[in-house]
Amino acid sequence: MIENLINNKRVASSSGRQQPVYNPATGEVSDQLGLSSPEEVNDAINAAAAAFPEWSNTPPAKRASIMFRFNELLSQNADKIASAISREHGKTHEDALGELQRGKEVVEFVCGIPQLLKGEFSRNVGPAIDSYSDRQPLGVCAGITPFNFPVMVPLWMYPVAIACGNTFVLKPSERDPTSAVLVAELLHEAGLPEGVMNVVHGDKTAVDTILDSDIVQAVSFVGSTPIAEYVYQRGTQSGKRVQALGGAKNHMVIMPDADLDQAVNALMGASYGSAGERCMAVSVAVPVGEETADKLIEKLRPLVEGLHIGPCTDTKAEMGPVITSDAKSRITDLIEDGVNSGATLVVDGRDLKIDGHENGFFLGGSLFDNVTTDMRIYKEEIFGPVLTVVRAKSYDEAVTMVNEHEYGNGTAIFTRDGDAARSFCDSIQVGMVGVNVPIPVPVAYHSFGGWKRSIFGDHSIYGPEGVHFYTRLKTVTSRWPTGVKEGSVFAFPTL
Ligand code: NAD
Repeated sequence: MIENLINNKRVASSSGRQQPVYNPATGEVSDQLGLSSPEEVNDAINAAAAAFPEWSNTPPAKRASIMFRFNELLSQNADKIASAISREHGKTHEDALGELQRGKEVVEFVCGIPQLLKGEFSRNVGPAIDSYSDRQPLGVCAGITPFNFPVMVPLWMYPVAIACGNTFVLKPSERDPTSAVLVAELLHEAGLPEGVMNVVHGDKTAVDTILDSDIVQAVSFVGSTPIAEYVYQRGTQSGKRVQALGGAKNHMVIMPDADLDQAVNALMGASYGSAGERCMAVSVAVPVGEETADKLIEKLRPLVEGLHIGPCTDTKAEMGPVITSDAKSRITDLIEDGVNSGATLVVDGRDLKIDGHENGFFLGGSLFDNVTTDMRIYKEEIFGPVLTVVRAKSYDEAVTMVNEHEYGNGTAIFTRDGDAARSFCDSIQVGMVGVNVPIPVPVAYHSFGGWKRSIFGDHSIYGPEGVHFYTRLKTVTSRWPTGVKEGSVFAFPTL
């Protein structure tokens, strides 16, 4: 059974509730996950609370030195971690290594935490009065994470929180939970004191315990939009700081002057990589003009039909299975709905069978043309290897389409026209924008966050916004007795 990690000890849940974890490439149960009870979640929260006073007083440079060692250990254990990700998630080994690398970049960023926490000082703000401001940790912080990046998304959160002086409780996805514990143990091997980082597995019961806890000060959530909204509302109701990142429907606008081969290559990786289970996957292509659209479909069709799909042990595989048989059914139902609504199914990936993996949760790539904005396959996040093409008559129509969609996570424009690109970047109502870049995930020293119903809360995640989220500003104004000249002053102080 997959265990919790509390006070740097693996502990099995004794709640009596369990759920199976699958190998999506075979469809077989690979392990059982204990679903923590409220008491077990509170054990982790209490461990984090007990560790906070000493950890928050540990010099930032010392905290950074642990992050340096953690980063080294992540490199040394990269293959082991990537294999654990692939076994439960299904993504290819190369893709799993890529996710780890992007997570490691956040660890590298927080190795500079002494610099990032440096405050401001003003001498003589009044007669013999000095003032300084600095950012201080919040206390116990918690993270609740999705299945699609079981290592990278947690790494968006706890390295920043911990480097800032907080202690942490992570509740990973119950669908691929093993790698979260492996990685947390490396943090302890790097020298992190007991209780600073804890992992509890579970479902809604565990999440609600975190959200209602009086001890937890801040919650970072990444997952689907309905749960993000729920977490935001319930967490803020009990006075917590919450950042909740939700789902997406990312559009790529292809202008008539774009380098079409470059756009098509970019689309293939961004739409079908990781079986489309990325919050920054491009799921809608918007070619501008009929000619652009016809050429795009002509180039895409053979590539989608020729996708090499297989288990993570197949080194040639470009994508693996989807996460569960439920996810597979949901995706095939949506494809059926698209067909019934009148969209043209150019490539149908529903019947794919992989020899030796007949019970795996595999789907081939699907490609829809002539999709319209009233269809479910356009409005809803499919989160699978399905690309929908919506033809736009003009640039303005394309921009209006992106702006009217309820999600605003990522988008891209492919063009050679600097004016069009600049106007797009100015007017698009989306948080992360790419110009001839299909998945514009910001690097670790910027911050990640969508707009509209792709995020609830005021802070993006990691980077400078992450440091702000996990700290609060304190401003101290001081005067020493030699500076005190007058008696009591009853008017509001001025110079
Ligand atoms: P999910 O919302 O089902 O689960 C996310 C977390 O919420 C898990 O830890 C899960 O245990 C918990 N959870 C699920 N149902 C709950 C409930 N009823 N009450 C309380 N907690 C609950 O998401 P998922 O399927 O694991 O991940 C895919 C989703 O995540 C997609 O929508 C994707 O777009 C989104 N995502 C967004 C980003 C981003 O940065 N915006 C990044 C990655 C994934």
